[in-house]
Amino acid sequence: MKTSLLACTMLFCPVAFAAPPHWEYSGEAGPAQWARLTPEFGQCDGSNQSPVNLSDLVKAELAPLQFHYQVGGKSLVNNGHTVQVNYAPGSTLELDGMPFELTQFHFHAPSENLIEGRSYPLEGHLVHANDKGELAVVAVMFEPGQANPALSQAWQTLPTKAGEIHAFKEPISAASLLPANRDYYRFSGSLTTPPCSEGVRWLVMKQPVQVSQAQIDAFKAVMHHPNNRPVQPLNGRLVLQ
Ligand SMILES: [Zn+2]
Repeated sequence: MKTSLLACTMLFCPVAFAAPPHWEYSGEAGPAQWARLTPEFGQCDGSNQSPVNLSDLVKAELAPLQFHYQVGGKSLVNNGHTVQVNYAPGSTLELDGMPFELTQFHFHAPSENLIEGRSYPLEGHLVHANDKGELAVVAVMFEPGQANPALSQAWQTLPTKAGEIHAFKEPISAASLLPANRDYYRFSGSLTTPPCSEGVRWLVMKQPVQVSQAQIDAFKAVMHHPNNRPVQPLNGRLVLQ
């Protein structure tokens, strides 16, 4: 959107192409107001929103997740709401008989989703899209412990200011962020940031991965504030396990 705004400014094109409004994690542009900031954020008031407290878990025969990840993390960007690793094409998750391509992964502190009421200090979101533009997010919970080697590599030089981007000298692997045990919970939800688009397939890994307190602190220092949206009501949705 920012690119199109720039192009529009130069061509004096109409206001309709302006960038979406600013939103925040607290205050007047905080989560409770997102749906009212602009019509395009209207889905933030929807009934199938994320994150959620994963509870009343329903036993199901969930198919094993098939990750086909390459080493493809190419750059790290601070977009003002999170720190995100942009991923090169070619890494996929096979889900519901379709390939979903990994496009980026990013983090929230504290965790956005809760597992049976439990919050974690950090949650990673690996965002995938299929060729119809449908999204699948794999969420990984982090618990305090040993320093995480994948994060040590990815966060070597954390971009401290919004808009700052660093290219990696060596590409980063997303596979090393995944827990050894691939059991997961599944539910249907949304993006956890505006425009809060629904129809997102959520896959939350059951086994947490370790992260050091210093790594959590480094991420929080760059964000300056918590970047988790509060949990949203399930409204009758089932969480499968
Ligand atoms: Zn996220």
